[in-house]
Amino acid sequence: MAGTDLSEEDFARLFYGFANTRKALPWNALRKTAEVAGQTVSIRQRCEMLLRLVNGEALDAGEWDRFMGAPIEPRVPSPTPIPHEVAIPLCAALGRVVENAATAINEIGKNIAAYQNGHIVTLPAFDVVGRKWVSKPDHVAAETPGDALLYALSLFVDPARGLGKRLRRCAWVECGRFRFVGRPIGPGQPPTYYCNEQHQANGIKHYERTRKATARARARKGRKS
Ligand SMILES: [Zn+2]
Repeated sequence: MAGTDLSEEDFARLFYGFANTRKALPWNALRKTAEVAGQTVSIRQRCEMLLRLVNGEALDAGEWDRFMGAPIEPRVPSPTPIPHEVAIPLCAALGRVVENAATAINEIGKNIAAYQNGHIVTLPAFDVVGRKWVSKPDHVAAETPGDALLYALSLFVDPARGLGKRLRRCAWVECGRFRFVGRPIGPGQPPTYYCNEQHQANGIKHYERTRKATARARARKGRKS
């Protein structure tokens, strides 16, 4: 799944292929944001929603509304995953962030910025607590689900936020799910990440099998020559 570069075509497909709610931003969408105001998602929640979708899980209609910043129309059947062809380039992009955040962030970030222009509206949100204005997570309204997905991806590749360093991927090849870890990866944390003990056991078994098979193949080759 990982290791594929995000081509312009991938982004175009991601952007338009899943666009079932094309409507003019900002006015129409912004009018509708009132309906989901007060339900803004934090940056962390948004990142986790993206990872759930990329991992093949689904969001229910209410979650999609909050992810989009406006009610999604037509109503999505609940709960709804993202199509496979949308998950692939997202998966590849996140995989590159895990593998090498420094180089991936630059390229992917530039790509996203170019496509995102004008399709995302960010409104600063405030609450009045007592006599004070308290800042809340920004209300983000996206024109299409593809825009909302790209916006969430952009949070991971924004070097200022450092969220890419908190992204890990299960090393068992049959899993490969992404997880958002609480603190940046640093000294003291094992270099290889697994979702749980079962996946770790499976991952190690798979690794040993592959290693032995490679050794056997080498030995066979050695005998022949
Ligand atoms: Zn796993």
